[in-house]
Amino acid sequence: MSCWLLTCTHFPASMLCCTLSRMTDFSNSVSSRFIRYTSFDTMSLSEEAGTRRPTSPGQLVLLEELIHELEAMDVECELTPECVVHGILRENVQGIPAIAFMAHVDTSDAVMGNGVKADKRVYTGGDIVLKNGTVIKASENPQLARYKGSEVITSDGNTLLGVDDKAGVAEIMCALEHLASHPEIKHGPVEVFFTPDEETGHGMDSFPYDRQVSQICYTVDGGGEGEIESECFNAASVNVRLHGRAAHLGCARGKLVNAIRTACQIASSIPATESPETTDSRQGYWHVDSVRGSVTEAEMEIVIRDFDSASFLQRIKHIEDLVRIHSDLSGVRYEVETEITYRNMKEVNDRHPEALELLEEACRKTGIESVMNPVRGGTDGARMAQDADIPCINIFTGGYNFHSLEEWIAVRAMSCAVNLILALVEAAAERSLS
Ligand SMILES: [Zn+2]
Repeated sequence: MSCWLLTCTHFPASMLCCTLSRMTDFSNSVSSRFIRYTSFDTMSLSEEAGTRRPTSPGQLVLLEELIHELEAMDVECELTPECVVHGILRENVQGIPAIAFMAHVDTSDAVMGNGVKADKRVYTGGDIVLKNGTVIKASENPQLARYKGSEVITSDGNTLLGVDDKAGVAEIMCALEHLASHPEIKHGPVEVFFTPDEETGHGMDSFPYDRQVSQICYTVDGGGEGEIESECFNAASVNVRLHGRAAHLGCARGKLVNAIRTACQIASSIPATESPETTDSRQGYWHVDSVRGSVTEAEMEIVIRDFDSASFLQRIKHIEDLVRIHSDLSGVRYEVETEITYRNMKEVNDRHPEALELLEEACRKTGIESVMNPVRGGTDGARMAQDADIPCINIFTGGYNFHSLEEWIAVRAMSCAVNLILALVEAAAERSLS
């Protein structure tokens, strides 16, 4: 997942999401595939974002490996000039609309993401002590209790594990392999996209929409077992540039115009009660990301997030009003540039309800109890929804503690995710053929 921040939902241990008896057990195939992918050094580099694609060479190595694996399955595929793997498993029955699945190959650089040594073990209860002594505390991970007696995967404690999002890549590939080797399962075109640099926020730059044949997409980039995300923040960043005037301080009265002081006044006018550190769940916020400068020139970056579109637009207007009022009072000249980074994908998902309907049907088939979470961030699906008006819902990978040394994933949850992908393909076919 992104990358982008996910709300944490703690489930009671009794809330088992999977009824394994109704599903195929992919535990061995999906976990070994995932562990193999974790050995690729695909940490993306924030400082290279927007200048180099992919930002790190290891991502290209894994993308090329995926091309080889897709070819071995007889899946039509290409590595596009934008470094996106695009594959299509052709339909074996006519008349079923295409369905797409997407995941990203890069991992965050919040902690070291290269040189990963995955470690699979049976969880026997209590804290998990990793090889280097790092502890995954049971008290901070109540979801662990659900997996007592079954396998979990961690890193050795020196790096993150890479669940986000190599688990998504492995789960999609595992489902595709199953479909390719079981021609008796009726399906329409099944399209896959594997992107680089999602963690830098540039994964969807130059996305090959011209090659896309599906009108429904699911990102497999979510959190714990059962979590489904069809809603995310609206996001904007506001860049403010202020121009003051210097004067000798001994005779500055009526002459000096202080740009940095005006910037500080604007920053302090933004309510601290609506900041990232004081809000959660469905609350939006303003965030002063940086203020820098001097008397003559100052610049500030303000980040705006809100689930509600009307409230989001009001937040943007409020910032622009604050800049205008404070600048006029102090005599500072100003420029404001507002960039809308992504929009809440809920609007597109609501307009095309078939994506959520198929997911509900797939959960019913598999016995997976879904829990809808709003994402306090964005997803690549949000970009696809915004750019191409394609509904895009994020489904779970089965992992926790993303972007940290304590990252872990339950093998059983990975198998559930593979089953959910297959059930989505099946539900799409049944809907068209019935
Ligand atoms: Zn991700």
